[in-house]
Amino acid sequence: MTVPPAISGSTRLAAVIGSPVRHSLSPALHNAAFAALGIDWRYVAFEVAPGAAGAALDAMRTLGIGGLSVTMPHKDDVAGAVDELDPAAAALHSVNTVVPIGEGRLRGHSTDGAGFVASLREAGVDPAGMRVGILGAGGAARSVVDALARAGADSIVVVNRSAERAVQTAALAGERGAPGDADAISGCDLVVNATSVGMGDDSLPIDPALLRWTHVVADLVYHPLETALLRAAREIGARTVDGLGMLVHQAVLQQELWHGTRPDPAVMRAAAMRELAARE
Ligand code: NAP
Repeated sequence: MTVPPAISGSTRLAAVIGSPVRHSLSPALHNAAFAALGIDWRYVAFEVAPGAAGAALDAMRTLGIGGLSVTMPHKDDVAGAVDELDPAAAALHSVNTVVPIGEGRLRGHSTDGAGFVASLREAGVDPAGMRVGILGAGGAARSVVDALARAGADSIVVVNRSAERAVQTAALAGERGAPGDADAISGCDLVVNATSVGMGDDSLPIDPALLRWTHVVADLVYHPLETALLRAAREIGARTVDGLGMLVHQAVLQQELWHGTRPDPAVMRAAAMRELAARE
């Protein structure tokens, strides 16, 4: 681990706002990357009550905070309170990253979906032209559907417990998106678990008999790192992509937006693994 420069009068601050936020891995990831880059930044977590995101943005402007991550329950409120939105944040009406752009103005970005696509590419998987099956239709699924459509996926089937939510999420991919049922998974190239099923236990979001060795299987859940779904996929010889990659790469993109230098994803991944191990 690299020792960061001592805090000084010119240290820049970045932070995450959320509620609850004390469990966040983001301080570990970002501070490890700042230290490895040798730049004079620090990252802290602020517990911000529901409904107070606008006040937090005012504080960001007043205090000159250099970058903000946004997590539940503030992503939608922040999308309505910043001065500009990037295309993904506008499509999703959801912001996970705030960047000061001068004269007190703030720009909101959504790096979750692009982070997921970057994690696929890091694993040697290009989603362009792929038939994709997404399990889940919540906030994470929405960002992934939007990003996969932007990355040129051929078709995106959204399979969700609540059918109405599947329709809304599939619509983000335009004509290439459709709601479907679990049977559609067998005909896909890429299968993504974007439900919370499998988090902290051995439960499976679909019958593993639907998986094929030709599939790429990705899970957004990263605790455990190898979920029951990824284990079932590995055991039949399918390629797997774990959820830590998305967490790391959305953070890599955040740092590029805040200070313009790309941090090493391996440094952030190692920091996340250390933090998760310390919590076991
Ligand atoms: P969310 O908005 O609450 O959505 C949860 C999704 O899971 C919904 O589609 C929900 O279906 C489905 N679901 C929950 N319990 C289920 C069950 N027992 N059976 C079937 N479906 C079930 O949550 P989110 O923010 O999208 O997050 C989803 C998961 O992704 C979480 O585990 C989260 O930790 C993970 N995540 C990972 C990253 C990363 O960087 N790797 C980033 C974001 C999120 P209904 O619509 O029917 O309720």
